[in-house]
Amino acid sequence: MRAKQTMEKYSIRFWITSLILLSMFLTLGLCIIVVYKLTQQTLITNTLEINQGYAEKVAKTTEQFFNQSKSTLSAYSAEMVTNRHDPEELQHEIDEIYYSSKQFNSVLFADPNGRIITSSPQSLNLKNQTIKTAGSKQALQERSLIVSDPHKGISGKLTILVSTPVWGRNGEYLGFLGGSILLEENDALDSILKDHFYQDDSYLFVVCPSGNIIYHPNLKRIGESVIKNEAVQQVLKGKQGARRVLNTQNMDMLAGYSPVKSSGWGIISQTPTESTVNPSTHLIKYMLLYTSPFFLLFLFLALWLAKTIITPLKELAAYSENLCVGDFKQPMPNISPWYKEAEMLYKATALGVNSLKQQINHLSKEAYTDPLTQLANQRTIRMLISDWIGNHNKFAIIFIDLDSFKKVNDTYGHDTGDQVLKFLAKTMESEVRKQDICCRYGGEEFVILLPETNKHTALNVAERVRRKMAITPSPTGKIVTLSAGVAAYPADGDCFTDLFKAADKALYQAKRQGRNRIVVVE
Ligand code: GH3
Ligand code: MG
Ligand code: MG
Repeated sequence: MRAKQTMEKYSIRFWITSLILLSMFLTLGLCIIVVYKLTQQTLITNTLEINQGYAEKVAKTTEQFFNQSKSTLSAYSAEMVTNRHDPEELQHEIDEIYYSSKQFNSVLFADPNGRIITSSPQSLNLKNQTIKTAGSKQALQERSLIVSDPHKGISGKLTILVSTPVWGRNGEYLGFLGGSILLEENDALDSILKDHFYQDDSYLFVVCPSGNIIYHPNLKRIGESVIKNEAVQQVLKGKQGARRVLNTQNMDMLAGYSPVKSSGWGIISQTPTESTVNPSTHLIKYMLLYTSPFFLLFLFLALWLAKTIITPLKELAAYSENLCVGDFKQPMPNISPWYKEAEMLYKATALGVNSLKQQINHLSKEAYTDPLTQLANQRTIRMLISDWIGNHNKFAIIFIDLDSFKKVNDTYGHDTGDQVLKFLAKTMESEVRKQDICCRYGGEEFVILLPETNKHTALNVAERVRRKMAITPSPTGKIVTLSAGVAAYPADGDCFTDLFKAADKALYQAKRQGRNRIVVVE
């Protein structure tokens, strides 16, 4: 029953402690998740902003590049009109555009039929050839200052043609002045698109209005259609912005985009989401790595503290619990209550227990002692004998009765009679052995219990007492003698009643035989 209660207490403590620890763990876990999510979100937002900013910057620079190309050509278109009949001067002008601007891979002046009048560098030998590329067709058709769509140029490479119409003085169309830009070989454009600041897995690519890639760090992807990419769809609508997208290769990307209006291109700068959020994952790992030892230490300290707080209380509780079932012999637990409340409880318990013990000792003494002689009373005799019989311990009893005591009372008064009873008690105690127990059975009858003693030894003890009484004057001033019967367990009776009957019988015989003598049960 007690064990069950203790277990229940333990389990309540266990659950409370577990609950506290669990909620601590959960709070910490929640904090880590929130920090992780916030960091991740911040990194994603930052990367989107950076990519958008970078795409805008590149788009702006590309725009400037095209505007500059257009204005260079526009500036020279008048020279084409002036010098169109002077081949040398014309060549000079075209060479000047080619060599000074460094924007074009080649420069040419073609008539309305696409026949090349002059071109630079001369090493290309294009003079008098008819140019039939998509770019030249677009230039001849549109007859305006344009940047053509990417197309296969004369060299067979991906090219764009920046062209301006050349109008005669009378407004007649004289052809176009064009500068071709090879997308993969143009240093000026490369310096805009290639030299970027990325230090991670980010990269930039350019799409033309049809949604095909015209610039990509992976050359194999040039020409590939990426129109399904949401960022591409947005930028080709002329919008700039940033969004998280799945690219055409099903990779989660953080894309920033911005259009180049003059060419209809879209610039997309993007970073794989995974490489963006990786630092936050590392951060959390490091956080866990560095904080977990402290957390474990804290946990250990908390448990240790809880244990040291609980231990004195637990010991006091167990002690009190045992008191409740009457175990007053247990020593007070030797605890060192290191905090005030436990110390107060300890002192209060000690005080309470001491006072309780005193009261119980007092009550026990009263219950088991004869008040006149301070000897053990009949209750003690019965208790001890039933104990010994229960354990089959051998013992002997001496049943004593004062001789003619009635006369003592009658002659000297009851009080003197009492003094004689006390005198007998003292005499018995002085003559018996250390292990023998002197008791008052009632009235002027006394019993001596002799554990592990035979009748012969018991007789000797009885004789010592009798002799002492027979030679020592009592408080009356006269000798008061005694008679006694000696019996032993188990020889003369196997229960209290039989044993005392036998001893009483022997005592009766002693009386009959003239008193002042001991009779042993035969
Ligand atoms: P015997 O030798 O046959 O034992 O004679 P006796 O007079 O001792 O025996 P009896 O039984 O006739 O008398 C016992 C007396 O003991 C009677 C009673 O008044 C007295 N007595 C019993 N208890 C006490 C006590 O507590 N104090 C005193 N003073 N006397 C007591
Ligand atoms: Mg008597
Ligand atoms: Mg008597």
